[in-house]
Amino acid sequence: DVRHGPILYMEDVTVSFDGFRAIDELTLTINDGELRCIIGPNGAGKTTMMDIITGKTRPDTGSVWFGSRHNLLTMNEPDIASLGIGRKFQKPTVFEALTVFENLELAMAADKRVFPTLTAKLTGEHRERIDEVLEMTGLQELRWRTAGVLSHGQKQWLEIGMLLMQRPRLLLVDEPVAGMTEQEMERTAELLTSLAGKQSVVVVEHDMGFVRSLARTVTVLHQGSVLAEGSMDEVSKDPKVVEVYLGE
Ligand code: ADP
Repeated sequence: DVRHGPILYMEDVTVSFDGFRAIDELTLTINDGELRCIIGPNGAGKTTMMDIITGKTRPDTGSVWFGSRHNLLTMNEPDIASLGIGRKFQKPTVFEALTVFENLELAMAADKRVFPTLTAKLTGEHRERIDEVLEMTGLQELRWRTAGVLSHGQKQWLEIGMLLMQRPRLLLVDEPVAGMTEQEMERTAELLTSLAGKQSVVVVEHDMGFVRSLARTVTVLHQGSVLAEGSMDEVSKDPKVVEVYLGE
């Protein structure tokens, strides 16, 4: 998975809420082009970790770097997003009354560097990007459908597609397969795997079968720091990990 060194580097990061350490001296490296799975019991700090990366939560101590040049702790949320860090929350949020195509169009329009106004005309280049993203997400046949009639899985893929419109360098994805059918889960594994390499992807997921099917490095968070890291087989045999999950 290693390409050109880390895309994200967090060192000794600590965040306290009213004296409680939600993140406790967390050190974590995500390599460029990597697909990394983050697992851990409820309250382990997974959401807080994502919030730190996007600038929503500011740590008390530690450092967070994007590539070797960007110190994220000196940047606000919009500036961090414009570096190419996209986040997908668990529930799909697409514009139900618009078509798949229009949703992707709007996602591009949201990028002010590309479209100064919503009324600007789509150029050939923008249409090409929409076609590329439709192909990546497998939604070509559904491009003229209203998003509201899509299945839950298709809405999740569309929302990932909307993030892809802006050519992110790092995608943060929160529980993508919650509520999906087996078939949709397989398709999602294919999609996330195909994205890695072109961009880095961090997936927080509770479904262990899905994490195993991705077959990538897994980081186990517990009490705000890394408990174990390795393949799913390695971490699931780790006595520390077994204890934490049995105790849940
Ligand atoms: P996870 O996503 O792994 O379930 P979280 O990052 O949501 O874990 O939470 C980690 C811990 O920090 C939990 O104990 C949670 O209750 C606490 N926590 C998270 N956000 C806040 C907040 N804004 N105020 C107080 N406590 C919080």
